[in-house]
Amino acid sequence: MFSEFLNEPLIDFSADANRRAFASALEKVRARLPLDGRLLIDGKWVAAPATFESRNPSRKDEVIGRFAKGTRADALRAVDAAHAAFATWRNTPADERSRLLVRIAAILRDRKHEFSAMMSLEAGKTWPEADGDTAEAIDFLEFYAREMLRYADKQPLTPLPGEDNKLEYIPLGVGAVIPPWNFPLAIMAGMTVASVVTGNTVVLKPSSDAPTIAFKFFEILEEAGLPAGVVNFMTGSGAEVGDVVVDHPKTRYIAFTGSKEIGLRVNERAAKVHEGQIWIKRVVAEMGGKDAIIVADDADLEEAATGVVQSAFGFQGQKCSACSRAIIDSRVYDTMLEKIADRTAKIKLADPTDQSTTMSAVINEKAFKSINAYIEKGKSEGGRVLIGGGSDGEQGFFIEPTVIADVKPGATIEQEEIFGPVLAGIKAENYDDALKIANDTQFGLTGAVYSKDEAKLERARREFHVGNLYLNRKCTGALVGVHPFGGFNMSGTDSKAGGRDYLLLFLQAKVASERVGATTKRAVSAD
Ligand code: NAD
Repeated sequence: MFSEFLNEPLIDFSADANRRAFASALEKVRARLPLDGRLLIDGKWVAAPATFESRNPSRKDEVIGRFAKGTRADALRAVDAAHAAFATWRNTPADERSRLLVRIAAILRDRKHEFSAMMSLEAGKTWPEADGDTAEAIDFLEFYAREMLRYADKQPLTPLPGEDNKLEYIPLGVGAVIPPWNFPLAIMAGMTVASVVTGNTVVLKPSSDAPTIAFKFFEILEEAGLPAGVVNFMTGSGAEVGDVVVDHPKTRYIAFTGSKEIGLRVNERAAKVHEGQIWIKRVVAEMGGKDAIIVADDADLEEAATGVVQSAFGFQGQKCSACSRAIIDSRVYDTMLEKIADRTAKIKLADPTDQSTTMSAVINEKAFKSINAYIEKGKSEGGRVLIGGGSDGEQGFFIEPTVIADVKPGATIEQEEIFGPVLAGIKAENYDDALKIANDTQFGLTGAVYSKDEAKLERARREFHVGNLYLNRKCTGALVGVHPFGGFNMSGTDSKAGGRDYLLLFLQAKVASERVGATTKRAVSAD
């Protein structure tokens, strides 16, 4: 029915026409701000008496949108609406659901600059980072549309004479979809459309730091013809509406991406059975990382330095896959740090709406304070600030790309997720030691090794315990279909978003076995 899946190409911003198109999208989007966000329950947009604001992290005084603070009663109604819609949506043929996703992808492709521009304004993404986020959202739509057809197809079973056996993947029910702010389009859309294409219905609670992008995504869902009640939009406090949706006895599963702390809380709450609940809730939780790049003594140091700096400071280090630890063999430690510092010095920290900006503000004041506190902690624990360390919170939440050298294994900034532009430089005695340091964390999301020695790379394949391991390349930038993405240990449930196992998490298998032939007409089963 569809052509083979191919990743959405990224925009070449060196071309004049593309630059002009993006600049014009920025202007248009900005002219319509602030947006007036509402709740969507059962296909009806409703306002709420209390609101909150989403602001531009690079210009704190710019309001991007005003959003309803959903209440407990709103959240309960949203789950009920999703539950009612499930009765029909579950029976919509899979190919119809798949076609819906492809229509959504087509509209998003047409309006991609508008969405990317919104991410520059609301989340502080540079042009290429924003474009990458939009491209990934399109990829999820196209990929899951095709994947659903595979799951809807005849499934292989061992034949048994006298029986006709069929295995069918059916949806679960109402899902609570809870995305983070850092991929406000791709992850939000990915978890939502994976739910929808598999026949589930959703209460989507976007992050309060990036609700506008999620709100705009609904314009597309509606235009593409999504029926009322299939996805309900519930803004508000995570602890308030989030908990209500997670706890609700009619919620069948939770698709969560965010921090370890909230992920564990969701997991714990979901385990409790509430009155009227007749299932064990399924939790798909993708959480934080403390990702490391190992630089062996035989590595190409130029390439390694470029990979480390891109992975550490792309989108201000606010990716779950960001490199926050450079673990460097002692024989190349000083040379490597110099190269990292040289590249870091070239980063331009400014407003992301300027095309030449390569790094921008961190998401909000809380993050600004917490990242600065980690920098202080790094210093107090004996780290040496090699470059950066400064910040300016006047106009926006700007923190310089910071490299702290001589960080000891076990130090706070070597263990805890900072989620900002702070890289710890760690000296390893040798490759054995480097692998040991890399694995000595509760997380296990991404990691990379730079080495020219195939034996070292092979050891990393076996011993470096992360869900996504990269060899001689940076540790960020997973592509849908190419690098299914998800982590081990406290990084989550290894759901491998953008991979061929992903939709199974939103489905359950039903097997129907019919006796055929001479026994077909028997009234009483022999079982
Ligand atoms: P967060 O945990 O603070 O919030 C995630 C979501 O949970 C938000 O929508 C938030 O509103 C909601 N929430 C908060 N309290 C809640 C509650 N009590 N009940 C239900 N929902 C609640 O994370 P964040 O700051 O938005 O995102 C950054 C984190 O996400 C980082 O730790 C990062 O590593 C992680 N992340 C992981 C992946 C991955 O694939 N593993 C991808 C992106 C981000």
